[in-house]
Amino acid sequence: MVANTDYDIFIIGGGINGCGIARDAVGRGFRTGLAEMKDLASGTSSRATKLIHGGLRYLEHYEFRLVREALMEREIIWANAPHLVKPMRFILPYHRGGVRPAWLLRLGLFLYDHIGGRKLLPATRTLNMKTDKAAVPLKDLFTKAFEYSDAWVDDARFVALNAMDAKERGAEIRTRTKVTAARRVGDVWHITLQDLRTGKVNEVTSRLLVNAAGPWVDRVLAGMEGLAEVHNVRLVQGSHIIVRKKFDGDRSYFFQNNDGRIIFAIPYENDFTLIGTTDQDYHGDPAKVEITESESDYLCSAASEYFREPVQREDIVWAYSGVRPLYDDGANKAQEATRDYVLKDDAGDGKAPLINIFGGKITTYRRLSEHMMQKIEHFLGKKGAPWTHKAPLPGGDFPVQDFSRMSAKFAAHYPFLTPSHAARLFRMYGTRAQWILGNATDYKDLGQHFGADLYEVEVRYMMVQEWALTAEDIVWRRSKRGLVMTASEIAALDQFMKTETGYDEKAA
Ligand SMILES: Cc1cc2nc3c(=O)[nH]c(=O)nc-3n(C[C@H](O)[C@H](O)[C@H](O)COP(=O)(O)OP(=O)(O)OC[C@H]3O[C@@H](n4cnc5c(N)ncnc54)[C@H](O)[C@@H]3O)c2cc1C
Repeated sequence: MVANTDYDIFIIGGGINGCGIARDAVGRGFRTGLAEMKDLASGTSSRATKLIHGGLRYLEHYEFRLVREALMEREIIWANAPHLVKPMRFILPYHRGGVRPAWLLRLGLFLYDHIGGRKLLPATRTLNMKTDKAAVPLKDLFTKAFEYSDAWVDDARFVALNAMDAKERGAEIRTRTKVTAARRVGDVWHITLQDLRTGKVNEVTSRLLVNAAGPWVDRVLAGMEGLAEVHNVRLVQGSHIIVRKKFDGDRSYFFQNNDGRIIFAIPYENDFTLIGTTDQDYHGDPAKVEITESESDYLCSAASEYFREPVQREDIVWAYSGVRPLYDDGANKAQEATRDYVLKDDAGDGKAPLINIFGGKITTYRRLSEHMMQKIEHFLGKKGAPWTHKAPLPGGDFPVQDFSRMSAKFAAHYPFLTPSHAARLFRMYGTRAQWILGNATDYKDLGQHFGADLYEVEVRYMMVQEWALTAEDIVWRRSKRGLVMTASEIAALDQFMKTETGYDEKAA
């Protein structure tokens, strides 16, 4: 009976949690499948602030379990993807009479430095804002600042790397494939899949089903159970704006607003600054979430409280918005709802198990996946030991300390590349950047030029290895080349991809 199912584990959702679980499960020897209805990371997992962080702010809400687990993850995730993950220093300016007293900030940062197994990330230090360069872009309000460590990752690429690793280990990852129904027949799940490219419907079977549908988790559950509504998650919208670079250097800012909320200003894609985020309850369709005018105004005015040169609406070159699927713990304010995750199973009496994920952060996806595997192994039997803590993701097979040396070696191997192009390719693809360029010795070996520094060899790599099907997948998710390409260049790329794949998302 069991051997006749297509899979041991089938996962709904190709965000960070679904892909992380697929990777862990297949690596332990489970037959694993995953369906994502749009593109990988097209849901919340491409719309984060992209911090790999303990969450300094969560200490205020006594989320010690979450903060400790997240802090511990920083260096593990960095070691798994030393090309894509960057350690980052954050500057928290302080002024007397500010929202939080200095002793509280010091206490939080002391805990931050000491409860999370920090080994390589440098410790917190105090900056003299009369002399430190960090003060240059800021108003003349601060005598002091705290500088602490966290890390940063391009979230959508990080999802793609987890999916690639899962695929390379034997998982079946289907994108543009929607789970339209799932029903139990005894101890087997029958899952209906619709291929959104062709419209074709087929059914697969699995011993266990994981609902990792992020903001759609309750909708998927309601659909399965034939209910009008199910309520486990609180949907909280968060938006970011991108403006032309507001400051030099590679450190980020952590600004505390008068209303107790915080925002980050982060160096982004060389020439830009990423500013976010907001927190407001959301009741619409998660697929349609968009930044509102009041969020843009809020972000501009919050950043302008700090920056010498104000941030204005006209400065915004791009914005994105996402929906956090937070476990609904009944908190009053959206920013107080827990950021921790909850895994709930529905099984027993010989019925096929279902495990739902509520909440979760990019930072904690690997630990969430390990906890998920404990639950799964409870139902399906133990297969393998935890392994992902020391397994590099594709392109990340070198020690973190070697990043600069490896990046320089790559640039030296392809001297015709401009320094910024070589640096971008190594940052995005690590040791696999060489797979893309092969024996190229000149720009003309890279095929069609689509604009900025995007060439056909890279586009084809993303199409073949990373499931990219449209220009949007490439310029706004797997890379952020959309920031430096023109609309007509992006349209030409889209046309090229349509011709290659025969797939037209707008028509589908
Ligand atoms: C504004 C904001 C800032 C954030 N900042 C950070 C941060 O700095 N650091 C951090 O660690 N975390 C951060 N987070 C949290 C983090 O982004 C999310 O917790 C995480 O991305 C959730 O991942 P997920 O896989 O659960 O959901 P998702 O990424 O949404 O994935 C779910 C997927 O399921 C698919 N799906 C839904 N229904 C179906 C179906 N029927 N069939 C097939 N597929 C389906 C969807 O298309 C979607 O791609 C932030 C979140 C937001 C919104």
